[in-house]
This record gives sequence, C-alpha cells and structure tokens, in this order.
Amino acid sequence: MPIQIIVEKCTGCSLCIKACPFDAIRMMDRLESRGLASDSQSHKKAVIDLGKCNLCGACVPACKLKAVVLEEGEKPAPNSSLKDYKGIWVFIEQKNGKIQSVAYELLGKAQELAKRLNCQVSGVLIGNNLDDQLDELIWRGADNIYLVEAPELTNFQDEPYTNILVKLIQKHKPEILLCGATAIGRSLVSRVAINIKAGLTADCTGLDIDPEKKILLQTRPAFGGNIMATIISPNYRPQMATVRHKVMQPMEPDKKRKGKIIKENFDGSLYASRTKLLDIVEEIESLVNLAEADIIVSGGRGMAGPENFKILGELAHVLGAAVGASRAAVDSGWVSYSHQVGQTGRTVAPKIYIACGISGQIQHLVGMQSSKIIVAINKDPDAPIFKVATYGIVGDLFQIIPALIKKFKEVLRK
Ligand code: FAD
Repeated sequence: MPIQIIVEKCTGCSLCIKACPFDAIRMMDRLESRGLASDSQSHKKAVIDLGKCNLCGACVPACKLKAVVLEEGEKPAPNSSLKDYKGIWVFIEQKNGKIQSVAYELLGKAQELAKRLNCQVSGVLIGNNLDDQLDELIWRGADNIYLVEAPELTNFQDEPYTNILVKLIQKHKPEILLCGATAIGRSLVSRVAINIKAGLTADCTGLDIDPEKKILLQTRPAFGGNIMATIISPNYRPQMATVRHKVMQPMEPDKKRKGKIIKENFDGSLYASRTKLLDIVEEIESLVNLAEADIIVSGGRGMAGPENFKILGELAHVLGAAVGASRAAVDSGWVSYSHQVGQTGRTVAPKIYIACGISGQIQHLVGMQSSKIIVAINKDPDAPIFKVATYGIVGDLFQIIPALIKKFKEVLRK
C-alpha cells in the first residue's frame, strides 16, 4: 500500500485528520474499520480512505509519532548537468494551419522571463505550409523558431508531435518549456514529460523566476482552489508548465524584431501514428464565445433562478456581451456548463467583466481576474469580489440590472 498507518504507533490524537485536505482520514476502532461492532473509544486509530486520499503527504509531517508512512515512488535520476539546459521554449499551437492566440500570450510571458534569465525565447512550430505566420511569431516575442513541416504533420496527432518534441528537447536542451493548457497542449506535454522524465505543472496562473536560484516558479490553485501553490522543479529539465488561454498577455507586435528560423527534419518513421484522423468537428460549445468576448456579463447564485438569467441576457444584448456564470449557477442547472467561468470552467480576460450576484470565491476569480475592468454587483458589501473589482455596486441586482439596461439603452440608442 502506498500509504499506511502503523497502528502500534498511532495514539488516535487526530492531528492527521486536521492536516488532511481531502477529508480522507477517520478515527475508528480496529473492529469498526473491518465492519465489525465497535468496542471502546480508547482503541480508536486513524484509518485512511484510499478512495479519497490522493497521496499528497500532508498527514505525514502532522503525525508527531511517525505513525503515517508514505512510500516514495521510484524517482528518475535528476538531469546530470542542469547547466547544459538553456533558453525558454514555447510550443506554438496551430489548428487548421492557424496559430492559436495562446501561443502569442506565452511568447509574451516567455520574453518577460527570458529577461530575468538573460536567455533567448524559441518557438517550436510543427505542421505544414506555415511560412506566412513566422514573421508574426518573431514580432511577438520569438527569437528563434524551430520549424518542422511535413504533409503528415498538417494536423495535431499525439504520437508524431510527441516524438518530434522529445527529439528536439533532447537535441537542444531548453531550460523551460511552456505550452497552452488546451486540449492539444494538455495531451502533448503530458506525454513529453513522461518520455523525458521531467516534471510538469498544469494550469499555471502565474510564472516567475526565483531571483536567487534562477528556477521557474510555477503558481497554480491547489487543494480544490483553496490555496495558491508555487511549484518548482529544481532537479529536472526542462521545467515544464501549461497555462490556459487568456491568462498571460501577448506582446504588442514589434515589426523591427528579428529572429532565426531553424528548419528541422526527422526520419519519416517518427511521423507514424497508430491513430488516424478522420475529421475535425467544430465544438458546439464554441457558440458561447466567452474566450473572445470583449464584454462578459456573468451571473451567480444571487440570480436566484434560471428565469432571472433573462434579464442578464437582456443586459448582455444591449452591451453586445456574452453571458457567463459561476459554478453555483451552472450546478443549479440555471445555465449550461459552456457558460462557466473559473478554475473548472473557462478562463476569460475581456475588457469589461460584470459579475452579478457572484461572491468572488478563489475558484471563480482565477478564471476572470485578468479582465481589464471588473464591475461587481452584490448586496453584501463584504463580498470578496469587491477586492478585485474596479467598480463595485452594493445593492440588489434585481433593481440595479434593470436600471443599467434602461440607461445603456438610452446612451447606446438601442
Ligand atoms: P455564492 O458564493 O453563494 O454567492 C452568491 C452571491 O450573491 C453572494 O455574495 C450574495 O451576497 C449575492 N447575492 C445574493 N442575492 C443577491 C441580490 N439579490 N443582489 C445582489 N447580490 C446578491 N466556481 C466558479 O464560479 N467557477 C469554477 O470554475 C469553479 N470551480 C471550482 C472547482 C473546485 C475544485 C471547487 C471546490 C469549487 C469550484 N467553484 C467554482 C465553486 C466556488 O468555490 C464557489 O462555490 C462558487 O464560485 C460560488 O458561486 P457564487 O458566487 O455564484 O455563489
């Protein structure tokens, strides 16, 4: 078993229960834990529910008597010479031959990090006939572009793209690799990480460089979004992270920037795939175009029912906005999941985000706090949403939203 309680050492003090963020530990007497009738309080010992435990290890240091033992998995040997790894790479995602905006956002962030490391930023672009978009990549932050083109690589396929990226990493040894936390990015870099035995931090909301150790600080929500954890990979290279669309800011294109195109060719056997791409079908969800909207009007539990989303729709219509929602509204079945903003929904960064009846829990904030202007409407003046809001309106949304609709109709002549 990967984690166990040494019953002889356990005194039933409950400290491990308090330390467990997953509510996976109970005090039970040994008979009770085997489904038999309990005898007395004095025999109670900690019992771990392996269905809930995710082996985070928080209970291990909490136990003063060393009664919790977590088996360490087999670790790969650290990269022998970390100093050989140089530069920041960005995987440039393309779909149907069009570079995806997350790639520009990551190039912008990579340039910021590169200044702290005094190194170059390189993009890795895999596909076919992509020449017309190389200048834009350079204008927006790439110092080099590793370009791998072949007809078989036109569309993303897990196996060939993984094979190529692994070979490129082994050959050129980048220090950091960033990738979009998109369907393609998530599928690709997790395979790459396993292949090269490097760490990977998914869904980062912040990236920085440790000023002393010069390593990547990868920040993301952890334990159900209750804390923000900063994760480091001190012993393995490259340090790899994924970041969602709209979390980072792209650079303004600078047409004076110069860059180098490095064409790479590989043996055709590397391009083979056991899967066959039959067709590409557009997601129906993309109809709710939250990620691209300039204005989003979002509703939460304060909307009090599905029927009230009509006034939100009306406000959105007047402003030419998209409708978003908190998870509470989605879980209540008032709007579909495709509207959800937050940690387990979409990440958005519109020019204006209007939060109506949303309290502003961290899991919601991580999905919208990069919005340029945040307007919060909430009847509770202490609601946490006001801490991130540019403008706050304290009051009943059922009075405020109709008043806003009336005023915007007048001003915008709609
Ligand atoms: P509440 O927190 O209940 O807030 C309702 C607010 O409405 C209150 O502040 C209240 O004052 C206000 N209000 C009520 N009536 C009125 C009125 N008439 N006028 C004005 N204001 C009014 N949440 C997300 O949103 N997105 C996610 O992606 C997400 N992912 C999660 C992932 C995990 C692992 C976990 C554990 C949670 C996640 N959550 C997510 C849930 C999150 O923790 C909150 O529960 C949720 O965001 C709360 O939604 P809410 O603000 O609409 O509801």
